[in-house]
Amino acid sequence: TPPPAFVNAPLKDFSHERVREEFRRSLAAVRSRLGATYLLDIAGVPPQGAALEASRNPARPSEILGQVAVADVDHAERAVRNANRAFPGWRDMPVSARVALCRRAADIMDARRGELAAWQVLETGKNWREADADVAEAVDYLRYYPYRMEQLAGWQPTRCFPGEPNHLRYEPRGVAVVIPPWNFPLAILTGMTAAALVAGNTAIVKPATPANLVAHGFKSVLDEAGFPPGVCQLLPGNGATVGRYLVKHRDVHVIAFTGSKAVGLEILQEAHTLAPEQRHIKQVVCEMGGKNAIIVDEDADLDEAVAQTLYSAFGYQGQKCSACSRLIAVGRVHDRLVKRLAEALDSYDYGPPEDPAFLFGPMITRDAQRKAQSYIELGRSEGRLHYLGRVPADGFYCPPALFTGIEPRHRLAREEIFGPVLAVMRAPTFEAALTLALESDYALTGGVFSRLPDHLDLARDRYRVGNLYLNRRTTGARVGVQPFGGTRLSGTGIQAGGPDYLKQFLWTRVVSENT
Ligand code: NAP
Repeated sequence: TPPPAFVNAPLKDFSHERVREEFRRSLAAVRSRLGATYLLDIAGVPPQGAALEASRNPARPSEILGQVAVADVDHAERAVRNANRAFPGWRDMPVSARVALCRRAADIMDARRGELAAWQVLETGKNWREADADVAEAVDYLRYYPYRMEQLAGWQPTRCFPGEPNHLRYEPRGVAVVIPPWNFPLAILTGMTAAALVAGNTAIVKPATPANLVAHGFKSVLDEAGFPPGVCQLLPGNGATVGRYLVKHRDVHVIAFTGSKAVGLEILQEAHTLAPEQRHIKQVVCEMGGKNAIIVDEDADLDEAVAQTLYSAFGYQGQKCSACSRLIAVGRVHDRLVKRLAEALDSYDYGPPEDPAFLFGPMITRDAQRKAQSYIELGRSEGRLHYLGRVPADGFYCPPALFTGIEPRHRLAREEIFGPVLAVMRAPTFEAALTLALESDYALTGGVFSRLPDHLDLARDRYRVGNLYLNRRTTGARVGVQPFGGTRLSGTGIQAGGPDYLKQFLWTRVVSENT
């Protein structure tokens, strides 16, 4: 029978009372399990004396959701040894068996959608829809990469050469260290891990600290699916110590990282410095930040442009690599656009995401809140504060802010803020807007709202970012539909959820025979 075609998991439709009721039950079930301790598991044994890290609800920071045992470098060393030991058996297992395990994990994750999304609402401040979409994306990765791996598996003939058959095979690289961010806490972690595993590498997952509980949810899915011991180990721990130790380790072959530019560049440098006795070059998959712009053309449909920009810039409080943080208004549209955006923003309230009435919630941590607020202060001196929202006093909230008069030299136009701050810039023509949009270290997503086919064609041709969205929002890429990732200092240009991604976890071997 042919392998099943890849199909995206449908998103939940919360407009139905039945679906809302089901999710309320998931939230209640998760709430009934708060306060537990999550042990480290190194080769099936919880080590003694591991430090505990409290995981908090960013909407109510006094609320501790659970205590997570975190690894130190000794634990990391043991995890690398386990992963190395488990590698040959996992590599030599038929691809069909690895694929079947990933698909089983996808089915389990799909069946536990409500519970896994509820943890995200509590631990990472996502609203219901965003949390559900993140779990759906994670399920998609667990189905998409196995589907791609089936196409890459086995000996494949190369170009025919008389009297000498030649065959190529993709081989896994070895131990992969997966270092995800907290903002798509299940999806990105699952995507990088699924790619590593289905390709035949063993994986050590060092989750982002603010999403440690979500990561435990992921590990419980893999355990339920029956992955062999040592093949995938979860190692919560501090990025700057445990993460760095893993990156520099002699016996690590692949580092799959998604996160900030600063950490990504450091990882690239450290991974490419040979450790004593290291006999291979590490492969680094490195996806970093964005400073994404949406251009609104003079004739654009403002109903669409305002609604979609609002969501692109302020959805999940702007804490998305794909978020719009620069809005470029062409010619006369500027004043109408800014006025309507401010009015639209003012119609929303910020509040705890457990309540579905709130579209917008808290920032992830106190540090993230302070950082975003510091950019609001800076913006007051660089441009003009056109709108500032209101937010609850308790919790890590940051008010949404809209600045006008921002110019390319301003830090608000250049630096990734990762918060609900939108910098509006002016351009006299569409061509000038394109030049402004491309004036950035980053090149991840971009957007254009225009009714002119010539302008859309020009953008298609020249607006060189990883994901360009025409007349729609710039967030919410779907696995297999919109392979996602950027170029310049946004990433390596090989997109997640796309046909080429898996090859980064593989190397090629050719056998030629004289017959
Ligand atoms: P981050 O601070 O760079 O952290 C990312 C991960 O790296 C975390 O697991 C972190 O652990 C770990 N880490 C920190 N320092 C390290 C070091 N020296 N060596 C090894 N690992 C280290 O980023 P974040 O705040 O979690 O995520 C937000 C960033 O991710 C934004 O810049 C956003 O644009 C980017 N992002 C990019 C994409 C994309 O596809 N291009 C997607 C999502 C997010 P700790 O948590 O323990 O510090």
